[in-house]
Amino acid sequence: MGQKECSHSVNLLLAGPYTKSQQAQPARGSELRVILVGKTGTGKSATGNSILGKQAFESRLSAQSLTKTCSKSRGSWGDREMVVIDTPDMFSGKDPSDSLYREVQRCYLLSAPGPHVLLLVTQLGRFTTEDQQAVQRVKEIFGEDAMRHTIVLFTRKEDLKGGSLMDYIHGSDNKALSELVAACGGRVCAFNNRAKGSNRDDQVKELMDLTESLVMAKRGGHYSNRLYSQVTGSECGTVQSEGSSQDFKEDFVKYMEIQRRSTMIKPLILIVMCILFCIQVFVRLQILLFCVLHGMCKFFYCLLFSMCNLFCSLLLIIPQKLMIIFRKTIRLECKTPTL
Ligand code: GDP
Ligand code: MG
Repeated sequence: MGQKECSHSVNLLLAGPYTKSQQAQPARGSELRVILVGKTGTGKSATGNSILGKQAFESRLSAQSLTKTCSKSRGSWGDREMVVIDTPDMFSGKDPSDSLYREVQRCYLLSAPGPHVLLLVTQLGRFTTEDQQAVQRVKEIFGEDAMRHTIVLFTRKEDLKGGSLMDYIHGSDNKALSELVAACGGRVCAFNNRAKGSNRDDQVKELMDLTESLVMAKRGGHYSNRLYSQVTGSECGTVQSEGSSQDFKEDFVKYMEIQRRSTMIKPLILIVMCILFCIQVFVRLQILLFCVLHGMCKFFYCLLFSMCNLFCSLLLIIPQKLMIIFRKTIRLECKTPTL
């Protein structure tokens, strides 16, 4: 049994914590849902086209985002049915607007009951503040846990000029990029979206291998959160109509707020934990110091006591000796005949 077949059966048999809706929809067993996320202009649409091997999404150099709304396209890879969801300018640092809420709901509906993989697209050599904001927005929209289903995909692989992606990442002094790669469990790959034929196939295969191992690690399960449970009828697996957008917006605003707070609280918790750790180390050092000093004092007390003892003993010996000498002199005097 090949790896893909194996993963397929795992998908159906072993339901992970998020696989409830998958069991309700066995027809979707081999479907692999991928959402393209990241800053505008990094090559999300071009990556979607490379994965599907067709011009499914509009991709071209443009000052503004060409992709205006979330869209979905299907294709296949081996016996896997691929569903790729392309996203518009949803991950900038702009304040959330009604159009963002609409697009988020659309993205949730298109990827319901949840994506297997989020592909975070960034351009090789250009992981900027905007990319960091995009990562933050991804967490706010899908939840921090979505990082566990994320693969970082670098476009413009040709710029590596045959070098290794891992060497590039390890050699980079971009702390934010290193943190992102670590948060994504080191899952990275690179694409040259201008590659054709076998070169294109090779890089898609590399991504699919990474994806399959991620899906296997998640026991075939896809990512989900309470917003997905809301947009899908959690019991019967039906997708709700877009008429409930007001409810979704309210829930999403709350969800986003919780995600924001948790990302703000996390560093605070870390700082408090560091302070507590330092206090603990300080107290332990104090106790150790006290014990050492106590031990040293004990030693000096003993030494002093022994010396006093010795001195007292000497003090006792001296009169004894004197007495002996005195007695001897008296005896000598007695023995001397008086003339
Ligand atoms: P999106 O806004 O993130 O969807 O970005 P697009 O897919 O529209 O791509 C923006 C530009 O980057 C287009 O001109 C693409 O041809 C170009 N592009 C994307 N990926 C690559 C790549 O791997 N290599 C090169 N040279 N150009 C790329
Ligand atoms: Mg696009």
